[in-house]
Amino acid sequence: MTEIIFEKSRTGTRGVKLPDAGIECNLDKYLPENLLREERLDLPELTELDVMRHFINLSRKNFSVDTVFYPLGSCTMKYNPKINEYAASLDGFLNIHPLQDTSTAQGALQLMYELQEYLKVITGLDAVSLQPAAGAQGELSGMLIVKSYFKKKGEKRTKVIIPDSAHGTNPASAKMCGFDIVEIKSNSKGLVDIEELKKVLDSNVAALMMTNPNTLGLFEENIQEISKLMHDAGALLYYDGANLNAIMGITNPGLMGFDVVHVNLHKTFSTPHGGGGPGAGPIAVVEKLADFLPVPLVVKEDNNYFFEYELKNTIGKVKAFYGNFGVLVRAYTYILMMGKEGLKRASEDAVLNANYLKEKLKDYYDLPYDRLCMHEFVLSADRQKHEGVNAIGIAKRLMDFDIHPPTVYFPLIVHEAMMIEPTETESKDTLDNFIAVMRKINTEIQNDPALVQESPLKSPVSRVDETLAARQPNLKWTN
Ligand SMILES: *Cc1c(COP(=O)(O)O)cnc(C)c1O
Repeated sequence: MTEIIFEKSRTGTRGVKLPDAGIECNLDKYLPENLLREERLDLPELTELDVMRHFINLSRKNFSVDTVFYPLGSCTMKYNPKINEYAASLDGFLNIHPLQDTSTAQGALQLMYELQEYLKVITGLDAVSLQPAAGAQGELSGMLIVKSYFKKKGEKRTKVIIPDSAHGTNPASAKMCGFDIVEIKSNSKGLVDIEELKKVLDSNVAALMMTNPNTLGLFEENIQEISKLMHDAGALLYYDGANLNAIMGITNPGLMGFDVVHVNLHKTFSTPHGGGGPGAGPIAVVEKLADFLPVPLVVKEDNNYFFEYELKNTIGKVKAFYGNFGVLVRAYTYILMMGKEGLKRASEDAVLNANYLKEKLKDYYDLPYDRLCMHEFVLSADRQKHEGVNAIGIAKRLMDFDIHPPTVYFPLIVHEAMMIEPTETESKDTLDNFIAVMRKINTEIQNDPALVQESPLKSPVSRVDETLAARQPNLKWTN
């Protein structure tokens, strides 16, 4: 039986006991009465050691990049080098205050300025804002820029085109900016269907939102034609750059003709994520959109760095202060550590690892799009489903072998999808173990499907009703 921390509470227990301060501390004297609490705050009372054990034991039930292989597609769960943590915890970065005079925080501003510059090179675009706190917020900022741009031009464009393989945040972000979403079907190769695109492209279209490589892990080989079509129609091209892990140093969104890009530092650039944050989703744009960026940008003049708020058409602020600074430090450290060649090598290895897994698994699981993949690929558990076990079953069984499940049931256009992204940081031994386990699970499904259906067998909780679990979470369990 694992208790929640409130149940472990014993009245009167203290973590630390401070000596009497020797001054009168009577809050009623300083705070207005209507702000005073009527009842005692219900906080758990435990010793420091109890608290430590409670949380350490909970953390041991977790799956994390530091503990197991984590091939969660579209999430780029690569190793987060510990030197990133060292850099982020340096006194000068950790203990600065956002309201401190910028003359006393020049090092922090220099880091942000240089990160902006690196991201310009990596995306191939002209200007960068580090403000957005996540990929989805980068998308929202990017689409607000698209909207403001056309408004300024006096054009009323109401539609945004999005391929059916897109990440769910894409239509959500465009819709939040008031655009109507036009979905286009992928062709039999898993790519944007140019003929479909032509059919829906008119003078009401503001932008096309794309991911390249797309969420099937496939490179959109017609990207230049697509880009020409969009620009000839006066529309903009948005690149969902949550995952740059296949292309860093090899190609870039600028070369492909994109106008707006968001980048997830918490995926490609090795800053920790999962469980909801923190992240950073900087956006990069072409020159003509530069003064629409969210403020502030960091600028440099005569070797001094300062914040620039006065952009002519800025969409304003999207995040308090200057973005998620600690995440920026980690990404900056990673980029410096890897260097230009290192980033390119990371992409090459990520693509190699994904193709290795794909080739070793495609005789055991259906591979709907059997082509060279980029940093990830999508298998289907359709065959196994006919034998009684669906993608969820396989995902759960993997946990019994100390492997985090892949992304399942996404992208939506593949039945029983299992989206696998090994990243470049995994060794051949780890990949070979994954291959062996996936093959073994396939054999188990043929011999004893019930075993796989009942998995996971090793976890503290087995299958939960996921809808109920989300709506009425029960944070307590019994073994
Ligand atoms: C992760 C991801 C996003 C969203 O990023 P968040 O930081 O989770 O908001 C958007 N698009 C793609 C393709 C992604 O993989």
